[in-house]
Amino acid sequence: MNISHTTSFQSPAQNGEDNGHSVITQTLHGLVISSDRTPDMADRKQVEEQLQFQAAILRYVTDSVIVTDLLGTITYWNEGASAVFGYTATEMIGKTLALLSFERDMDQNVDDFKRIQAGDDYIGEWQGRRKDGTTVWVDVKTTILHDTQGTAIGLIGISKDITARREAEERLRQSEKHFRALVENMDGGITLTDANGIMTYVSPSTTRMEGFLPEELMGHRVFTRMVYPADQEATARLWARVIEEPGKSHTLEYRSKCKNGSFLWIEVVGHNLLHEPGIEAIVWNYRDVSERKQLEQRKDHFISMVSHELKTPLTVLSAYTQLLRERCVSEGRTDTALHLSKMNDQITNLTKLVVDMLDISKMQAGQIEMAREAVDMDTLAHEVVESLQPTTSHHLLIEGEARGTITGDRERLGQVMMILLDNAIKYSPQADTVVVRIARAREGDTLTVAVQDCGIGIGQEHQGRLFERFYRALSKKDKTYPGLGIGLYIAHEIIQHHGGKMWVESNEGSGSIFFFSLPA
Ligand code: ADP
Repeated sequence: MNISHTTSFQSPAQNGEDNGHSVITQTLHGLVISSDRTPDMADRKQVEEQLQFQAAILRYVTDSVIVTDLLGTITYWNEGASAVFGYTATEMIGKTLALLSFERDMDQNVDDFKRIQAGDDYIGEWQGRRKDGTTVWVDVKTTILHDTQGTAIGLIGISKDITARREAEERLRQSEKHFRALVENMDGGITLTDANGIMTYVSPSTTRMEGFLPEELMGHRVFTRMVYPADQEATARLWARVIEEPGKSHTLEYRSKCKNGSFLWIEVVGHNLLHEPGIEAIVWNYRDVSERKQLEQRKDHFISMVSHELKTPLTVLSAYTQLLRERCVSEGRTDTALHLSKMNDQITNLTKLVVDMLDISKMQAGQIEMAREAVDMDTLAHEVVESLQPTTSHHLLIEGEARGTITGDRERLGQVMMILLDNAIKYSPQADTVVVRIARAREGDTLTVAVQDCGIGIGQEHQGRLFERFYRALSKKDKTYPGLGIGLYIAHEIIQHHGGKMWVESNEGSGSIFFFSLPA
C-alpha cells in the first residue's frame, strides 16, 4: 500500500496538552522529545523552533509526506502530497487514504495497511488516484511510528511521483511486445549472431521453417553445418563480406539443411550491426524461396532445352546463307548477295543470343567449365578491339599492358572483354572514344582491366544489382537501348570462376568504368 502514517502530528503548543507532567512531541521523522518535568520557557522555545524548522523543510521537499493515525485518518499532508495527488491539506486532513485508492485495489490496500500496522515496512511502487481521477504511480516507503514507550501511534508514508517513468516503461514494454509479435509471427526467420557466428537469438519463425528449436541453435556456430556442401563456399564469402562491411546488407540464396534432413532454398540477408551500441550483433533475415527456385529451375531447364534445339538449325541456316551469298557474289547478283549478308548478320545475332542463353543455363546449374591455359591479355585485348573496331564509329583505345600471362580460359576472357566493350559502345552513343586500360599491380599478383566510356552512366541505386541476370538499369526514357540484361551476369560469373572480381564505378550522366581483376 502506500503513504500513510498516523500520529497526531501536532506540537504541544498547538494541542495545548501541556499538563505539567510529561510532554511528548512527535515530529515527522519520529523524533521524540520527551521530558519528565514541566518545560521551562527556553525548552518550549527550542522545541517550537525545531518544529518550525522541520515544518519548513517539509514544505519544500517535493516528495509527498503523509501521516495518518493508526486507523488511517490523515493527520499531516505536505505540499509535496498536494502536488502528487492534487488535493490540498485542508481537503485531506481528517479524511482517510481510501480517497487516494482505486476501488479495485481497496482489498489489497487494506491488507498492506494491516501488514504495516503489524510492523512490516512497505517499500515499493504503488498505484494511486489523483483528485482528477487519473492514475498516479509513486515510489513509496511507509513505516510505523512509535512513541518513546514503543507504542505504535501512527504511520508515515514518503513517496515520489514516478508516473512519467512508469508510462515510459509501459510504452517501451508495449513497443517491445509489438516488435516481438512481429518478429515471431513473420513468415521468414530472424537470427542474431555475434562476431564469431555464434547464434545469440533465433526467432520461433526460424523453427517453423527449418524445424530446429531455438535452443538447439542458440549458443552454436551453425552457419556452415546447416549449409548444402556445394553452397558452403558462397556462404563463407557472404560471411566475409558481411564482416568486412558493417552497416551494409548482403544477400545470398543457398540451400539450408532442415532438421528432417531435407534442404530448403533460403534467401538470406545479413546486416552487420556489431558497431551499433546496444545491438552489437549481426542480423540475419531468412526467407524460404524454394517454390520460386523450383519455378526458376523449370524455366532454366526449358530455356536450356530450347536453346539447345535452336542451336543446330541456326548453324545450318547460317552455313546455307553464307553458301548462297558466295554463289550470288560469283554470279554477280550483288543485290541478293547484300540481302543474304544482312540475313546472315541477323542469324549471327540470334546465334549469339542462343549461346548466351545456354551459358546462363550452365552457369545456373554450376556446369560451366573453364580451361586453364596461359593467356596473354595484351594480345587478347588487341584481338577483341580489332574485331570490334570495324563495327563502330567509336575509337577503341588500349592503354597500359599486362606484362606477362595469366592462367585462365582465353575464349571466356575474350567474351568478358567483348561484353564490356559492346556495352561501352552501346551506352555511349554521343561519345566517340572507349578506353581499355590494362595494368598489373606493383606486387605483380593482380591484373586489372578497366573499360571506360563517356556515356549515360549508371545511377548508384542500380549498381548493387548490375551483375544479376536479366537486370537492366534503364529508365523508361532509355528504352531505345536493346538488350536482355544477361551480358554482365555472364561476364561476372566468368571472372568469379577465375577467382577474380568485377566492379563498376559510375555516375548517372557521366560515363562508366567497368573493372575486372584476375589473380596473375
Ligand atoms: P544489356 O546491355 O543487354 O541490357 P548487360 O547485362 O550487359 O545487359 O547490362 C545490364 C545493364 O547494365 C544494362 O541494361 C544497362 O542498364 C547497364 N549497363 C551495362 N553497361 C553499361 C555502360 N557501359 N553504361 C551504362 N549502363 C550500362
